[in-house]
Amino acid sequence: MPERHRLKNWLTASSKLLLDTLFPALCPCCNEPVDEPGSLCAPCWGQTNFISPPYCFQCGYPFEYEISGDMLCGTCIASPPPFSRGVSVFQYDDASRHMVLAFKHADRTDRAPAFANWMSRAATNILVDDVIIAPVPLHPKRLRSRRYNQSALLAQNIAKIKGHRVAPDLLTRGRDTASQGGKSPKARFRNVKGAFSINAKWQNLIDGEHVLLIDDVFTTGATLSECAACLLQEGATQVDILTLCRVVRPATMSI
Ligand SMILES: [Zn+2]
Ligand SMILES: [Zn+2]
Repeated sequence: MPERHRLKNWLTASSKLLLDTLFPALCPCCNEPVDEPGSLCAPCWGQTNFISPPYCFQCGYPFEYEISGDMLCGTCIASPPPFSRGVSVFQYDDASRHMVLAFKHADRTDRAPAFANWMSRAATNILVDDVIIAPVPLHPKRLRSRRYNQSALLAQNIAKIKGHRVAPDLLTRGRDTASQGGKSPKARFRNVKGAFSINAKWQNLIDGEHVLLIDDVFTTGATLSECAACLLQEGATQVDILTLCRVVRPATMSI
């Protein structure tokens, strides 16, 4: 091996060692050191309820029993949502709550690439080549106080993985809605009614497009449904949804 290649390899290995020492990879759930950046430690992995098939074709609600073909959950049959397909990575529950809230409210934006990787892997069936990836927007007032939109960070990182088109400002939130926390499913749908509109710069560009909406948590689907309805009204042909996690039993809604 030529001398300069040997030196280059040594420098690469040394800088990796230095980086690993200065910034060890940490479990995104409990902050204990892990071998692989973006991976959960063994105990957190065991406690996290990942959602895998079979699940509702339209909203991603996990089924407890084996089924064949594309099945819909009772909610989607009783009241079909405007989005066509949905996937979530894991259940929002006691084991995952603080991991999600730290990302949402406590500046743990460093977790976005790992979460985006998980989401990208879970959604291979809906991450088609020509889809436009867009986040659920925050109201400008909330964005100023929080300083970042966690869903936009996820959307940008997911798009980066396979070079998808991303439109972080596709939708705007014109009304500063009250928090959805503690509201009944019906009240959540009422609360976000008419709250979203398409950004003026995207008007006429969304016609005939397929959009993948990104959010951190699917609770009742009220916000995602309202965003999807807005996009379809503006001419999108299909809207799918992808969230980091979802509430599986409505009784646990507390965010
Ligand atoms: Zn852990
Ligand atoms: Zn469903």
